[in-house]
Amino acid sequence: MTKSIPKFLCALCALALAACAPQANLPVFDTSRVGEEAKKQQELAVRDYMAKLDRMDRVGWALRSANLELCGEVVSYRLGMSYAVAEDFPKEYREALQTVLAVGDRVTVYQLTPGGPALASGIQKGDVLLAVGGKPVANKKEAQAAMDSALATGAPLQLSLERSGERREITVTPAKLCGYDMALKQNPVINAYADGKGITIFTGMMKFVQTDDELAAILGHELAHNNQGHIRAKQGNALLGALLLDLPVAILTGVNPNIGGQIGANAYSQDFESEADYVGLYFTARAGYDISNVPDLWRRMAVENPGAITMGSTHPSTSARFVGLEAAAVEIENKRKAGQPLVPEMKSAQARKDTPKVAETAQ
Ligand SMILES: [Zn+2]
Repeated sequence: MTKSIPKFLCALCALALAACAPQANLPVFDTSRVGEEAKKQQELAVRDYMAKLDRMDRVGWALRSANLELCGEVVSYRLGMSYAVAEDFPKEYREALQTVLAVGDRVTVYQLTPGGPALASGIQKGDVLLAVGGKPVANKKEAQAAMDSALATGAPLQLSLERSGERREITVTPAKLCGYDMALKQNPVINAYADGKGITIFTGMMKFVQTDDELAAILGHELAHNNQGHIRAKQGNALLGALLLDLPVAILTGVNPNIGGQIGANAYSQDFESEADYVGLYFTARAGYDISNVPDLWRRMAVENPGAITMGSTHPSTSARFVGLEAAAVEIENKRKAGQPLVPEMKSAQARKDTPKVAETAQ
């Protein structure tokens, strides 16, 4: 009996191990290939991100350019090019960035906006930025500072670049745009937000929008939040950052936990959302996008998030947004047919003048 106890315990141990450990006999594979595969996947991730960035930039540029007149004094001068050094990115992606975008230790152009002046002037991806307006730039910080000051006036700008070991001088005339920059964030959530100074769209939203018309409508909505001064107005109402979670996923996730039961404040927010839908649709139409199917976006949002069909919180319900956008689309279409300017209807001219504006930015 004294000997059978340890045996019994051993049997229990064996049973426990069997329950915890996988039982399948896996085929033998070459583990040394995992690193190579990781590199391949990182390259795929970089390529996919860049494709989404190009798309966002192309549509965002069109919106910011076509609506310049409605953005008042909030304008910026842009070349339509992004540059970076490898250090600007997470360590694990640096090798892939070098392979895909040729971004290494020197300030390198890695993205050019379709339709932007940098591309039209002959600048190419992979060009190394040596000097801005005759001022040498050795790193990203210097390049950024030189670019900011050179672009402040909108005057033509001389860039010294290196391509295949050869130095080139290229003069670029910046484009004047609505002064709200757009950024793409790697995040699978279907979301986008405005913060008063710029617009951020998540890669999840980029995947969700099926056409450029839909993408323009999302960006137009956020542009309208900024241009109508909603963020500043909300901050005045002690709802700091409440717009930082925008669109239906914000509803799905319970929106802003800090708001609590402030029903009045939420209703105020719904008004802002409806205004952003309305004004944003004008922005979209003015940039030449087809707005006739934009309301359908809210049917697809509803399918993603059925809880938002009848119940709004900080945002109107998806059903209310569909009906509101449809009415706005009819109004815009009627103006177009009558040859009238596509300008949103405002309660008074004074209301427009009173819209808070943020300071002029430039890059
Ligand atoms: Zn919104």
